Amino acid sequence: GEPPAEAAVPQAGQDGLVLLRRIGVADPASLDGYRADGGYAALRRAFRLGPAGVIREVLESGLVGRGGAAFPTGRKWDATARQPDHPHYLVCNADESEPGTFKDRVIMEGDPYALVEAMTIAAYATGCAKGYLYIRGEYPRAIRRLEHAIATARARGLLGTGILGHAFDFDIELRRGAGAYICGEETAIFNSIEGFRGEPRSKPPFPVEKGLFGKPTVVNNVETLVNVLPILEHGAQAYAAIGTEASTGTKLFCVSGNVARPGIYELPFGATLRDLMDLANPVGEPRAVLLGGAAGAFVTDLDIPLTFEGTRQAGATLGSGVVLVLDDSVDLKAMLLRIAEFFRDESCGQCVPCRVGTVRQEEALHRLSERVDERDLLLLREVGQTMRDASICGLGQTAWNAVESAIDRLGVYR
Ligand code: NAD
Ligand code: SF4
Repeated sequence: GEPPAEAAVPQAGQDGLVLLRRIGVADPASLDGYRADGGYAALRRAFRLGPAGVIREVLESGLVGRGGAAFPTGRKWDATARQPDHPHYLVCNADESEPGTFKDRVIMEGDPYALVEAMTIAAYATGCAKGYLYIRGEYPRAIRRLEHAIATARARGLLGTGILGHAFDFDIELRRGAGAYICGEETAIFNSIEGFRGEPRSKPPFPVEKGLFGKPTVVNNVETLVNVLPILEHGAQAYAAIGTEASTGTKLFCVSGNVARPGIYELPFGATLRDLMDLANPVGEPRAVLLGGAAGAFVTDLDIPLTFEGTRQAGATLGSGVVLVLDDSVDLKAMLLRIAEFFRDESCGQCVPCRVGTVRQEEALHRLSERVDERDLLLLREVGQTMRDASICGLGQTAWNAVESAIDRLGVYR
């Protein structure tokens, strides 16, 4: 069914909105409105800079991926642009499925032309004539709005051949996911688009060398791509001046759980978890915060700076920006069981550590929720470490993160 609109409404009263500035204000169906509001100025600047100039700006901006892994976007673009093998492909990863993540949905529903323009710029910089927008099937409103935006842009010469009168051809094909969490993994997306089972491939080779249809491919998350617009509009230096040295720009945070004002918040990197709590207004005293979603970790220190380096230092991850706030009323054992069930359910089953490990983890947690036994706690650690070390992809590698942090930091089963 259609998800409720109000759950994702960005919070009002924030100054300095960059990525969210049009959300809830502009008409997402109007290309004229988008252009009147400065839309397509970034693409025009891209044409003036040329592909190498765009990549230089993105490198200098310090932009890193917002899907969760924080890989430098400029390095990815540069590596793809240099590949002699053609064609090159662009894939926008819009299969937003990490539990508690709903930021890309807000952008796609509220500012679809921004994504279309950003994809066009990425394709221009990296030499792609074709882009795939792989979107979560459970986002019907975003799909409708993007289909409309793509068709309108095509009809107005902003997609297709000779875009804006330049010798540059590019078009976007929208593909829907069918409900599998694993199809957000970039190489599983390739298999899915190619018509195979959505199973991850081993990396390396990385997609920049050998990706979709075996060709050099840039894969970027929705939020990552739309960051390219302010970088080109205001320049790399102005962009890099926001945030911290290692985490530049602003970040969208998906706040949910025991707070009075859940929703999407945009803050410059460097704000603390406490700053975010002051905006979201927790109900009762926060006992813990799950950062980064099911693949992330529980933290208790509200003074953690919300940066990639700050959360890493705290033994956590910013991941895709999930901030799930828990107070004392939450049954943590039940929550851990739900997380374990999720990973067991969503494992593609391709590799043994994850296929078997996620089942063993869930079984041990079931036993522990009945009766605490040191042998089960030891087993959990061994299984968790094996999944982390030996799984092919991020799903298995992160399936024990939240459970481990709950045992070590929150004292569950003590
Ligand atoms: P990764 O570290 O393997 O890769 C990150 C990106 O960098 C990939 O695009 C990869 O191809 C590229 N890369 C890495 N090394 C490279 C190299 N040497 N040369 C060129 N490119 C290179 O991480 P991942 O498995 O792609 O993603 C894991 C993250 O996904 C986790 O942090 C998790 O939080 C996040 N995640 C997000 C969602 C969501 O809904 N947004 C869902 C599940 C997981
Ligand atoms: Fe599939 Fe899990 Fe292996 Fe990833 S780690 S390839 S999800 S079995």
